[in-house]
Amino acid sequence: MAKNPNTKYIFVTGGVVSSLGKGVAAACIGALLQSRGYSVHARKFDPYLNIDPGSMSPLQHGEVYVTNDGFETDLDLGYYERFLGIQLSRNDSVSGGRIYWEVLNAERRGNYLGSTVQMIPHVSDKIKEYIKADGGADFIICEIGGTVGDIEGLIFLEAARQFANEIGRRNAMFIHLTLAPFIETANELKTKPTQQSVRILLEKGIQADMLVIRTPRMLSDDERSKIALFCNLSVNNVISGIDMDNIYKIPLAYEAQGLATQILAHFAMEPSVNDGDLSKFQRISDYLALRTPIVDIAVVGKYFDVADSYKSLNEALFHAGLANDVRVNIHNVDAESLEKMTDTEIKERFAGMSGILVPGGFGERGIEGKIRAAQFARENKIPYLGICLGMQIAAIEFIRNSCGIQNANSTEFSKDCDPVVYIMPDHDRDDMGGTLRLGACPCVINPDTLAHRIYGGNISERHRHRYELNIKYEDLMKKQGMIISGRSPDGRLPEIIEIPSHPFFIAVQFHPEFQSSPYTSHPLFAAFINAAKK
Ligand code: GLN
Repeated sequence: MAKNPNTKYIFVTGGVVSSLGKGVAAACIGALLQSRGYSVHARKFDPYLNIDPGSMSPLQHGEVYVTNDGFETDLDLGYYERFLGIQLSRNDSVSGGRIYWEVLNAERRGNYLGSTVQMIPHVSDKIKEYIKADGGADFIICEIGGTVGDIEGLIFLEAARQFANEIGRRNAMFIHLTLAPFIETANELKTKPTQQSVRILLEKGIQADMLVIRTPRMLSDDERSKIALFCNLSVNNVISGIDMDNIYKIPLAYEAQGLATQILAHFAMEPSVNDGDLSKFQRISDYLALRTPIVDIAVVGKYFDVADSYKSLNEALFHAGLANDVRVNIHNVDAESLEKMTDTEIKERFAGMSGILVPGGFGERGIEGKIRAAQFARENKIPYLGICLGMQIAAIEFIRNSCGIQNANSTEFSKDCDPVVYIMPDHDRDDMGGTLRLGACPCVINPDTLAHRIYGGNISERHRHRYELNIKYEDLMKKQGMIISGRSPDGRLPEIIEIPSHPFFIAVQFHPEFQSSPYTSHPLFAAFINAAKK
């Protein structure tokens, strides 16, 4: 991307409560600006102290998203990539921990030349470096995680305030998300929390330029005027962020309220540099209104307590439904619950399922249940898609039950096993982020395989795992009917396995869900749903 000296910066903050969907809102705002012909980049700042979200359980903040360049990021980057069709990198997911880490390391190296190292200017300067890194798009949207008023977030707001002041208020805009709760007994939407949240921002020296207010119904003109009055805003800049049953309807709802027009007016920019094309969102909205046939898919996992832990996966399944003109009904099947079941109970549990998917995961809990799910899909000729751990599981199951090696396992779960899945002793991982294989890796696909029919050629997909399928078992697997159809260019790392005699049984070591988009469904998911549909 060429450097654009006139890049405009939009800061997205949130107040009143957490979980307002700032990431989705930021992505939708970006998509609307794109639809007017402008280029958009997006970036997330998370004030917490973890260096990155890589080591956090999905039960904490939802899924860990992985960029092409192998950085473990907040899941909001997934929304940005999906909505905006752009590729983000390690500089687009920045935590408080990483900022402090860099400042403190610089201090140890003596880079501050004897001065006292302080929150302002040293920490705030470091944040500002990231805000403006890789400028080039017409707009850079910077989402600041957390809720205004959080202690951790103060320095990020301060950095944003300084930055906006330095580049001039015509070049920066603050969009604040809040909540207007509905009080049933009064039959009213309450605006006070919004007013107070805007005031907290003002105390930090930031005047919100636009509010997107999450509400169960559209704000009335009276309510908007009242909010505008108390919050120093034009009434046109008070937007209702009403609850939607599907996130892809949000851009159209924002557009109908003139959100993009108001943003461009703030920056004194042309309302549009093209004809403005929202057809891709209209297409999704039309699909959602149709009564399309339903395909039931069992996702056998273990992080279901938090709605967002399989975010990209659920999105990819939705996109694949869109591509196949069917509605994908996802059934969360708790892997552990399968472990104690009889064969009849397992059969009942999967009754009516047109496909079984075992997603990625870490640790021993639920493993044997996932193995039973893979076995059930294999033996009953139900379409199976295994992702990362779901591939390792499929191989272990096959070697145990088709090749007769009962002690087959992954060394992640058993130290004393036939190591079908193991840590490759001498594969150089130095440039791959510690011992995890992270980010995009090329994969060579054999002709005349299901993988080849799906992808049509060699691919690059994103990884996030530590263990590998042990290629030593390849001949044995092959003899019994499971083949390796994709591998790393050096031939040493199995990437895709499949069972040619099964209607659709494929499992991959990578995470295809990170490259699925609503505008172009991922081929692997589209093929899986197509097989399930049949
Ligand atoms: N736990 C497995 C590994 O580390 C699988 C990881 C995953 O599914 N992302 O290799």
